[in-house]
Amino acid sequence: MGSGLNARAVKKVNPQVYPGPTLIGMSLLSPPCPCGTGHALADCCGRWHAGAQHLHAPDALALMRSRYSAYALGLSNYLLATWHASTRPATLDAMPPGLKWLGLEVRRFQATGPHEATVEFVARSKLGGKAHRLHETSHFVLEAGHWWYVDGQVR
Ligand SMILES: [Zn+2]
Repeated sequence: MGSGLNARAVKKVNPQVYPGPTLIGMSLLSPPCPCGTGHALADCCGRWHAGAQHLHAPDALALMRSRYSAYALGLSNYLLATWHASTRPATLDAMPPGLKWLGLEVRRFQATGPHEATVEFVARSKLGGKAHRLHETSHFVLEAGHWWYVDGQVR
């Protein structure tokens, strides 16, 4: 019988080498999202950065991840557009020369009220060859149907 041989052959296939047509398609069409989910940018934070769902991150965590990605991609306009008016700076240079964002680690996502949430995270970057680690708890509010970044407490 050939079925036994086929079963063994299937078992040998490494899922990391053959992730399936969907994953292969995504990785060819879009770079991986800087926020580190392992998803393609277009299927992750890119959905909130531009297009039909622009500025519609569904919760504070999604907004926080998309803002980290916006820093990594130099999307100053997106950062300003998701910043609450009460704390928003007039201008923003999201990508100073020599700054490179290396990764995001979300530590804690907590609803602190019906329209408020905090996200604690560690973001690693490098500026002029020097490593930097930002450990922050960001505060977000839901207002007028959108989540907004209000401020952050560096820990
Ligand atoms: Zn993302």
